[in-house]
Amino acid sequence: ARPVVAIVGRPNVGKSTVFNRIIGERLAIVEDKPGITRDRIYGIGEWNGKSFSIIDTGGIELDGEDMILKSIRMQAELAMEEADVIVFMCDAKSGLTQSDEEVANLLYRSGKPIVIAVNKVDNMERADHIYEFYNLGFGDPIGVSGSHGMGVGDLLDAIVEKL
Ligand code: GDP
Ligand code: MG
Repeated sequence: ARPVVAIVGRPNVGKSTVFNRIIGERLAIVEDKPGITRDRIYGIGEWNGKSFSIIDTGGIELDGEDMILKSIRMQAELAMEEADVIVFMCDAKSGLTQSDEEVANLLYRSGKPIVIAVNKVDNMERADHIYEFYNLGFGDPIGVSGSHGMGVGDLLDAIVEKL
């Protein structure tokens, strides 16, 4: 069986956008609003001759503000059970938030290898915003732009290194 990679993070950080980049298809539905439940959840990624299954855990997000924390908890639990490597995705545009810290607190206990990705690094100025994510303690944050495709290769390098 292929190793499993799971993407975890609060709603709207760009999990589905980056997931689509990784699976190389445009099938998942990306919308501005959190709470999307129609996303494609599973895909196959391949990089440097290594093949893996990838889960966009955000596909199981529930609707409504009060459900966000519950959704995040469900996602993290799914990832911690199923994944060999977890991609913890944050957002350079909004910066580090309390919800990110809540996800981090769940992930600390997983014992799984974690890659921290900071999405929406669309320009040089945004690149400066990745440093605060060092504070989460998951190692070097990898800046990516799901919209432009920048940094996705570096993220894939970091993922397959841990498989
Ligand atoms: P998810 O809820 O984490 O799955 O996030 P989505 O992939 O649905 O993206 C949420 C919003 O962020 C959408 O409006 C995307 O177009 C936008 N988005 C995703 N990636 C980027 C990026 O790299 N840069 C910018 N500026 N916006 C992005
Ligand atoms: Mg999504």
